[in-house]
Amino acid sequence: MKRAINITLDDATYRMAKQIPNFSEWVRNQLRSQRNKLTRTDRYCKHCDTTQHGINKYCVNRVCSEYLMCELEVL
Ligand SMILES: [Zn+2]
Repeated sequence: MKRAINITLDDATYRMAKQIPNFSEWVRNQLRSQRNKLTRTDRYCKHCDTTQHGINKYCVNRVCSEYLMCELEVL
């Protein structure tokens, strides 16, 4: 099902949008890409040597010395 949504652009972003051949498709791809970044990113904690999968920016390994403190490295 296709649904429409209105967005508001300023002059500069309007000109950019006009140069994209299929702007709707481009927006859909941007949204999917954003969703994938939020949900499917593998991150690595160098303190406890674990790869973590999910939306957390910080280590969620409870036995890690940097639990919820260390910012994970995006893989
Ligand atoms: Zn850790």
